[in-house]
Amino acid sequence: MTKTAPLIDPFARAISYLRVSVTDRCDFRCVYCMSENMTFLPKADLLTLEELDRMCSTFIRMGVEKLRITGGEPLVRKGIMTFFRGMSRHLESGALKELTLTTNGSQLAKYAAELVDCGVRRINVSLDTLDDKKFADITRWGRLPQVLNGIAAAKAAGLRVKINAVALKGFNEDEQFSLTDWCAREGHDLTWIEVMPMGDLGNEDRLDQYWSLKDLRARYADRFSVTDLSERSGGPARYVRLEETGQKIGFITPLTHNFCESCNRVRLTCTGELYMCLGQEDMADLRAPLRASTEDGALETAIRAAISHKPKGHDFDYTRTGATGQMTRHMSHTGG
Ligand code: SAM
Ligand code: SF4
Repeated sequence: MTKTAPLIDPFARAISYLRVSVTDRCDFRCVYCMSENMTFLPKADLLTLEELDRMCSTFIRMGVEKLRITGGEPLVRKGIMTFFRGMSRHLESGALKELTLTTNGSQLAKYAAELVDCGVRRINVSLDTLDDKKFADITRWGRLPQVLNGIAAAKAAGLRVKINAVALKGFNEDEQFSLTDWCAREGHDLTWIEVMPMGDLGNEDRLDQYWSLKDLRARYADRFSVTDLSERSGGPARYVRLEETGQKIGFITPLTHNFCESCNRVRLTCTGELYMCLGQEDMADLRAPLRASTEDGALETAIRAAISHKPKGHDFDYTRTGATGQMTRHMSHTGG
């Protein structure tokens, strides 16, 4: 593959990280992510597996080195292993440095070994609680044992697992340390995510569930010696080390602006819309140029034009009276 000039946005940030949502569907209905009755996109609107391959391969040619596959639930997309298999050729050629996945874990028992075979080394698994009933409540359709089995299968297959837990006031506040201990025992990293004002607030007012990560950090500091780590991933995560256990704990606070200046990522939806910023509505349709020609020239031009519009930062803001800069998209659309 001949590489093109790298993708540089107007603020001199090189775009090297693409997150791809391969489906809007999911076998769970997490309350902060989806409503119970979702209307999903018609199949014809979705990029086919071949189109996803072409799209990602084009981005890789243009300098993307890290690909994270997400959704919806990526592992419920029919034939998705064909796509992973396809991407593994870019790992083998060295053009792609990392192929990763964010999953709810429900299908891992089935796919963990094959993912490893395709070159996946690390995965993120979303898990907010270790309590059966609470798990069923928060995911509505999910069942904890299935996910724990999946995580065990991933570990057995040699995948490094990072647990992502959404911090929810009055829901998993009491599990901060039990979840941390469990991760330490199992050898998983742990990252807490601040709940974001995505989608329609509906009956569950997410402002009521807002649990500041500053508070979580302070609670860790009461119990452990906490060292801030300078390590950054170009995204909104900050890390600390708990000296007593050696554990690395991450905090993702998407509501703060302090990571935007180092933002290296863009997001592709399953219909081929490219979002330049998680917190902005601005997007570019890449499906039309992709479908217009079997050559990739028009697609490359459209990608470059989109990147030239990547905004400086986002507008999320929580105030005491309400959430402003709120997005009407669901996380399952852009894949978080
Ligand atoms: N289904 C996969 C999963 O759950 O990991 C991948 C897609 S999911 C949209 C990606 C991440 O977004 C998950 O870790 C989930 O917890 C998080 N998420 C969903 N809605 C959120 C919200 N309103 N605020 C913060 N995180 C959210
Ligand atoms: Fe599905 Fe993930 Fe959204 Fe939960 S957070 S409903 S598992 S896409």
